[in-house]
Amino acid sequence: MPDHPDESTNPLDVLSRVFGHPGFRGRQEEVVRHVASGGSGLVLMPTGGGKSLCFQVPALCRPGVGIVVSPLIALMEDQVAALRQQGVAAAALHSDLPEGESRTVLRDLHNGDLKLLYVSPERLVLEGMLNRLDSLPVALFAVDEAHCVSQWGHHFRPEYRGLGVLAERFPRTPRLALTATADPRTVEDIRRQLGLQEDPVFRGGFDRPNIRIEAAPREQERAQLRALLREEAGPKGAMTGAGIVYCGTRAKSEQTAEWLRGDGLDALAFHAGMESDAKRDAHRRFARGDSVVMCATIAFGMGIDRPDVRWVVHLDLPKSPESWYQEIGRAGRDGLPARALLLYGAGDIALGRHRIEESPAAPEQKRIERQRLDAMVAIAEAATCRRQILLRCFGEAECPPCGNCDVCLSPPRLFDGTVAAQKMLSAVLRTGRRFGVGHVVDVLRGKLTDKVAQFAHDRLPTFGVGKDISDTAWRGVARQLVAQGVLDVAIENHGELVPTDAARPVLKGEQKVMLREELVRAAAPAPARAG
Ligand code: ADP
Ligand code: ZN
Repeated sequence: MPDHPDESTNPLDVLSRVFGHPGFRGRQEEVVRHVASGGSGLVLMPTGGGKSLCFQVPALCRPGVGIVVSPLIALMEDQVAALRQQGVAAAALHSDLPEGESRTVLRDLHNGDLKLLYVSPERLVLEGMLNRLDSLPVALFAVDEAHCVSQWGHHFRPEYRGLGVLAERFPRTPRLALTATADPRTVEDIRRQLGLQEDPVFRGGFDRPNIRIEAAPREQERAQLRALLREEAGPKGAMTGAGIVYCGTRAKSEQTAEWLRGDGLDALAFHAGMESDAKRDAHRRFARGDSVVMCATIAFGMGIDRPDVRWVVHLDLPKSPESWYQEIGRAGRDGLPARALLLYGAGDIALGRHRIEESPAAPEQKRIERQRLDAMVAIAEAATCRRQILLRCFGEAECPPCGNCDVCLSPPRLFDGTVAAQKMLSAVLRTGRRFGVGHVVDVLRGKLTDKVAQFAHDRLPTFGVGKDISDTAWRGVARQLVAQGVLDVAIENHGELVPTDAARPVLKGEQKVMLREELVRAAAPAPARAG
């Protein structure tokens, strides 16, 4: 579709004329207008949030061709096919393309006949390709799945590193990076690698308000699961849609499936260790819409987009808010009410930490994973709206209590924990905001460790003021203060605890802090726990 001078390049007109949508969603419009007028930036939206339009629409609004970097050939082919169907001149360029077809694409590009060109990163950064683009009007560069540029992410692709060259070679062309990964470390890495430090970050759309979120200590997991199943069964006692039970181990996924079958449910197991035939069968039954309960490890998930998953239960604590979010996000894609229940135990936290320590990852990576785990624990133990805490992990800071999580619906028993909070904050301040939770707790508990001696922290007035409650309980206090935004964990540095602006009124006694009773009161003083 060559440019018609008489066709409007107003974003809203393009949206409705080409894509047939009446309006933008969430922050799309803001992004589209920013890029259409020449700006660069980073877009953080969850999968399904509508990232594609953020670069497709401005590409069509601006003169020249939009270059889209995408890591997967299948993804490129899908998008190109969809665009062509909508009448947009789009093509893909990658290593699997037969020689003759590549030549046709390059000729169309050269003749200005393309509006969108999808290209693999290694293909784009070839000198010949960059030279070609130098002599053409380029509407914008979009870097999809931009987390691939970061080695902290789980999908690091060395070829993405080369994309830094775009900022140098095309300083006047808008560059838009897009990803569903929103943890601060990866975000900063993407901005640095792609030269977007000065450009805005657009976040949004992470909330899935139709999913009711609940978390509870794991007491009798089968009874707890059975209770949910009973509540979810329709009036005839039959299940509608599907459910997913995520289990921490392969064995548990099989045992749980077997137990549920014994209870008369159509339950299937799914994990990476199963025969591929069995996996395919399970996947097929799920995908074709059977009312099944899938008892799975995190291996189950790729390529699931069944709209009527009514609930997702985690029998074990996920390793990060990101993975939990992704897993519960498989529920309620049809927009109808859905549920996510998280069961967790103190053992999960210790096991999670242990796994991180034992992993072959670099120390830096381990530190990040520990912080992710802590953030997950903070959600599990929240005294305030769980969704607020979850969304804060994705950088969506200003949302009201959701009214659709268990904390909002039936607030837990709280007690006035202001004194404990003050003790912790003052220990953090007096040790110079330079230490992680472990050391701060040692100071509070009055433990003369080497580190305490080294920094003479045994001489601080806060040394030993927290003997009355256990190490575990102090860690619980710290997590709740983090969850409530009174303390921050310096993820960019070394995981130090840092008071936020909200700490000052607490210290001055102007603001009360409410803590969950069972977390602090129940934990009797205990011997120091490793890790
Ligand atoms: P992402 O790339 O963020 O995972 P997509 O760009 O694939 O998400 O969009 C997800 C779905 O939402 C697509 O089916 C798309 O057509 C639809 N969609 C996105 N934006 C809009 C909109 N403004 N109006 C209607 N549908 C939209
Ligand atoms: Zn809530």
